Amino acid sequence: MSTPKFAPPKGTRDFLPAEMRVRNHVFSTLREVFEAFGYGELDTPAFENLELLTAKGGATISDEIYSFTDKGGRDLALRFEFTASLARVLASHAELPRPFKRFQIGKVWRYERPQAGRYREFFQADADIIGSHSLECEIELFSLIGTALKRFGLADYTLMVFDRRVLDGLMALAAIDAAKTTDAFRALDKLHKIGKDGVRAEFAERGLPPEGFDTLIGVLDRAEAQSGNAERLGSLLDAFAHANLDDPRGKLATLALTELGQIVAASEANPLLAGRLTIDPTLVRGLDYYTGAVFEAKAQTAAGIGSFAGGGRYNGLVKLFGGADEPAVGFAFGVERLADVLKERQTLSGISSAPADVYVAVVAPEARSFARSVAASLRGHGLRVQVDLTEKGVGKQFQTAEKMGIPHVVPVGPDEAAIGTVDVLPVKTLATGEQRHLSVADLVALVNG
Ligand code: AMP
Repeated sequence: MSTPKFAPPKGTRDFLPAEMRVRNHVFSTLREVFEAFGYGELDTPAFENLELLTAKGGATISDEIYSFTDKGGRDLALRFEFTASLARVLASHAELPRPFKRFQIGKVWRYERPQAGRYREFFQADADIIGSHSLECEIELFSLIGTALKRFGLADYTLMVFDRRVLDGLMALAAIDAAKTTDAFRALDKLHKIGKDGVRAEFAERGLPPEGFDTLIGVLDRAEAQSGNAERLGSLLDAFAHANLDDPRGKLATLALTELGQIVAASEANPLLAGRLTIDPTLVRGLDYYTGAVFEAKAQTAAGIGSFAGGGRYNGLVKLFGGADEPAVGFAFGVERLADVLKERQTLSGISSAPADVYVAVVAPEARSFARSVAASLRGHGLRVQVDLTEKGVGKQFQTAEKMGIPHVVPVGPDEAAIGTVDVLPVKTLATGEQRHLSVADLVALVNG
């Protein structure tokens, strides 16, 4: 094959129809689960005013945004996630009843360095709850994640959880100024990538106190050394109790740890999630706007693609966009990453990648009109049906069906046309070569396995 003249932009890719079948299955399953939990769908523009998207994303986000000036000189940007758009909608629709539970599925764009599982254009499937402080929200979102993953047949995943307020408290323990915590979070976020020495060096580079780092790593090490969630929480609570901080961040951290314990206990009691939650004291998550619980879902994969879902609580964001001061919590599945995990586990192997279930072959030209009615009738029974468009000999038509991976061929000739009903049809299953006459109901049952 010659090298194509054009390729898609770096970090983006084409999805062929066979891949789209899998992706659409992921979309429809997620949509069903979101709706089963009572979330309503929202759609917003793919591009927003740049000012909106940079309002509270943090410095790294500005670097990652695809922004442009339009022909009217307006500064616009492609959305890199849905939260800012959601906050904007809520700020102008105070009438929407609270708690407002919405989901949104669509493309987002980030100017990132492309690598395994990291694209510049990808889909997120996002669910958020606006207007409730209750821990029931976190518990419900975890349950929703567990329900979706159960439907996908994914069993081996971990839901990592922590809380921003505890991280803030840890910063207070480490005598790091509130103004410097974002810097410290950024460094700490890299712990698993660059190790302790790397983070220590970053602390120094960012002008953070080295003793602070040692205190912080000491507390984290002690907590991480504990095998169970309750023990980890206990270890962290002890650290704050012993330090007896004056700093209000210490009190808030203790409260957050108690809440985290409640969320984890309730989720562990959910059979879908039992044994799948891990308290991870190093879970920072990039965005600056988180104010409480943060979480990520992960599965081991050959390519090491990282988390396939992530989110957290972001009280106060709606206010930033001119709305009321409202609590909010939400998360997004990264759809390509989720599909990659499912592909590796082969949980979606039952989904046919063929464009149709049945190919209606036309044995002789005089049967063509009846062949069209057969196809229409089978479609009416919910089957995906192609009817011959080649006008080639029937042998070639069988080859066409085979190349397309269409599993069953219904050859329609003058005999079938003469009978003129679709009560019983000749069916050839290409994989086995088996031929028999089937009723439409039996053909439907055969297709649906
Ligand atoms: P975030 O909005 O960064 O919290 O990410 C939420 C989820 O989106 C992650 O858990 C990933 O599954 C997915 N995601 C984030 N960035 C990318 C990317 N560059 N390419 C593909 N998926 C991504």
